[in-house]
Amino acid sequence: MSEQLRAYRYALDLTAAQASVVAQHAGAARWAYNHALATKFRALDERQAAIKQAVESGADPGVAAKQAPKIPTKPAIQKALNQAKGDDRSGQDGLCPWWHTVSTYAFQSAFADADRAWSNWLDSITGRRSGRRVGRPRFKAKHRSRDSFRIHHDVKNPSIRPDTGYRRIIVPRIGSLRAHSSTKPLCRALARGAVIQSITISRGGHRWYASVLIKQAATEVVATRAQRQAGTVGVDLGVRSLAALSTGETISNPRHLNAARTRLVKAQRALSRTRKGSNRRRNAARLLGRRHQEVSERRASALHAVTKKLATGWATIAIEDLNVAGMTSSARGTVERPGRNVKAKAGLNRAILDAAPGEFRRQLAYKTGWYGSTLVLINRFYPSSRTCSACGARAKLTLADRVYRCAACGLTADRDVNAAINLAVQAAVAPGMEETRNARRAVADHPHPAGSQSSTVLKREGHRACVAATPDRRRSGHPSEAESEVASASVLVT
Ligand SMILES: [Zn+2]
Repeated sequence: MSEQLRAYRYALDLTAAQASVVAQHAGAARWAYNHALATKFRALDERQAAIKQAVESGADPGVAAKQAPKIPTKPAIQKALNQAKGDDRSGQDGLCPWWHTVSTYAFQSAFADADRAWSNWLDSITGRRSGRRVGRPRFKAKHRSRDSFRIHHDVKNPSIRPDTGYRRIIVPRIGSLRAHSSTKPLCRALARGAVIQSITISRGGHRWYASVLIKQAATEVVATRAQRQAGTVGVDLGVRSLAALSTGETISNPRHLNAARTRLVKAQRALSRTRKGSNRRRNAARLLGRRHQEVSERRASALHAVTKKLATGWATIAIEDLNVAGMTSSARGTVERPGRNVKAKAGLNRAILDAAPGEFRRQLAYKTGWYGSTLVLINRFYPSSRTCSACGARAKLTLADRVYRCAACGLTADRDVNAAINLAVQAAVAPGMEETRNARRAVADHPHPAGSQSSTVLKREGHRACVAATPDRRRSGHPSEAESEVASASVLVT
């Protein structure tokens, strides 16, 4: 029986006392992360010096590397800190005599995060890790890093749990935290045998959020009769309209960034007028952060509505396998060979990223798993826009042509709808391109070492599906589970 992870994310309504405890924990986690990194960098220097010395005195480099001191990981760092942490209750000075004021898990998960960042860096250098290069881990600065910490479920004493009344979550050392939305879906999952793994509390803009990670048994979900009757829908993602469906429906692009532009510009300008290090600058930065958070929350909630509608409404959803990173690369060029139309391309990139096609696809991939539908990716080189959906003739089209007119058969259709119909047709004739990262087909779970939650694993495309899981099927369609859907997205950002 395979198990899957799923996260439930809640905006929190903290009391002033809780907010200060939570901020204290985030600060402790940041301190612990930095302490672990500093320990590792020191050990790296010592190790390199030892190897160099051994090689200079005639030793074999391989042997010298084996004999040199190792880089300490979580257990060693923790043990060393326990010796040196001190305790301000007994007046004993040390590295962090305040340690007893926060949960020990805040330290442990920060150490695990540092281990993960370290091994990602090494794996990226040695080529064991695919994807974008991972840089040398950086220290977390208070003004730059995201306030966040994680508390783990204790197997012997399961202390993280929903409070009675579907509105609160009990977190050890912090108390009963009030959530903005109902915890009922979480409680139901727990009643079905799911086990809470951890809770991550993080700040976004002016708000604190909690993401509760659970592990549950994977159940097979099949498409409902209504989904099967609806069949296949082709979805053409764009900027002019967010999505055009093969049914002829188009979903307009909310353009959140444009809508918020005036407020963003105002906040940004206010920030640039303040003096570095001043209180006014801190407040202006806080306001700007809040404005950006608002845009991102709006974008997320609109996207969730669309992807849920698609995943629950049809049995098969066909989209283009877009290369978002390639599409939105900068036109800037190099100093010797500057690019052309850099500003215009930057504007287009901003518009594409505001529509968030990559996130759209990621959500569809796990939601099709939840709701028994299938996501089919169509080869990005298939000319869906240029092909006539009625007769298959190919036409020359510029980006400005909003209507497709077929010279061969006389079809006139919205350009994007025509493309969406082609995608739906392709899904049937080329079923070989099926989304292999579909939640149901993915390797269900990875044995995570304590503390290394899926958040880091999930950045790798191949492992993404392990957040997604399958809720039980409802008779009356699929009622709102907004927070659990936002949830699995949040695992990525925490
Ligand atoms: Zn035609």
